Amino acid sequence: MRIVVVGAGMSGLCCARLLAEQGHDIVVVSADAMPRTTSYLAAAVWFPTAVGPAEAVARWSADTFDVLAAEAAAGVPGVMMRETLVLNRDPGTPGEPLPEWSRAVGDVRAARPDELPPGYHHGLRFVVPLVEMPAYLPNLWNEVLASGAQQVVRRLTSLSEVLDLDPELVINAAGMAAGGLVGDDSMFPIRGQIVRVTNPGLDLSVRDEMHPGGRAYVHPRSTDCILGGTLDVGTWDTAPDAAETAAILERCTDIAPQLATCRVIETVVGLRPGRAEVRVELDQDLLPVPVVHNYGHGGAGITVGWGCARDVAAYVRQVEDPSATPGQPSGIGGEDRVLAADARAGT
Ligand SMILES: Cc1cc2nc3c(=O)[nH]c(=O)nc-3n(C[C@H](O)[C@H](O)[C@H](O)COP(=O)(O)OP(=O)(O)OC[C@H]3O[C@@H](n4cnc5c(N)ncnc54)[C@H](O)[C@@H]3O)c2cc1C
Repeated sequence: MRIVVVGAGMSGLCCARLLAEQGHDIVVVSADAMPRTTSYLAAAVWFPTAVGPAEAVARWSADTFDVLAAEAAAGVPGVMMRETLVLNRDPGTPGEPLPEWSRAVGDVRAARPDELPPGYHHGLRFVVPLVEMPAYLPNLWNEVLASGAQQVVRRLTSLSEVLDLDPELVINAAGMAAGGLVGDDSMFPIRGQIVRVTNPGLDLSVRDEMHPGGRAYVHPRSTDCILGGTLDVGTWDTAPDAAETAAILERCTDIAPQLATCRVIETVVGLRPGRAEVRVELDQDLLPVPVVHNYGHGGAGITVGWGCARDVAAYVRQVEDPSATPGQPSGIGGEDRVLAADARAGT
């Protein structure tokens, strides 16, 4: 089918990549240069944050974990597996189950006392994918273009404005703008301010969601370190706040004292595309051609990206073959995806 994908962030490009792989003729429509997308600036650590519904998120996250882990093993640019420490401020109840996300991660253990920063007594250790989006997203774009996809730069005010591109199906993955394009007013911004600093030699991600000063997380990357952050529901302002930058530096230094010597490179603000529930849905009524929505990923668009794209691909199959069972896997099962990741890394 000729499929128009609106949006070239993580959500749109994962769909474009999968559907191109499955032989579809893809046109990607996007308004902004890549560095201006939310996906490009994200801390981009695998961790479900501010996203629902829980059951689907667990499945999408687990799928995406597998893809990213395979990509990291295959050497796809920008993906790595990162040792992580989540700090807890209370010991928890004995026998209390581990958080839901831990099922996708597998090996989660209690941190040893010598692994905890001063003043902390409890934490969990595990390994998750961390994605450096300034390397990952351009590589994904190049793969989509190399598959023969066409690129159209256009700012839409309504999804119907792509009909002149002769689509047989449209995918709505326009991030924060996606709801507005289709008359869905249930989206809201979740402002996030993060600080990019020099890396003083850290190789462990650390987070304390309950820090009294606000959420604190430290994500070391290959040449810098992302410190966060804020999660301001309903705030549209994208101007960096200097007082907030100072507060982020202070609380992150509490959980990673080596940051005392770091230098600030820049402060970045983005708007997470908030919605009570991610909308991955086939819509046959909106346009003369079917639409598959894929938006509202909140603080987890990277964490669920490949899993959501897999569901989108299943809906596309359903349109192609209405006798197919809805929600069936779209032919990108674990082994295929590992092979695909190998192919992407040229191995
Ligand atoms: C500070 C911060 C930290 C984050 N950290 C993480 C993290 O650690 N882990 C994680 O999983 N997630 C994280 N997120 C969330 C994640 O970034 C988002 O959920 C994700 O990027 C959403 O991707 P998207 O492709 O839907 O939207 P976007 O990346 O915003 O892409 C939207 C696309 O649609 C296009 N578009 C927009 N409007 C129009 C229009 N009118 N016409 C045509 N095209 C249009 C844009 O040009 C763009 O190509 C973070 C977000 C922020 C702000």
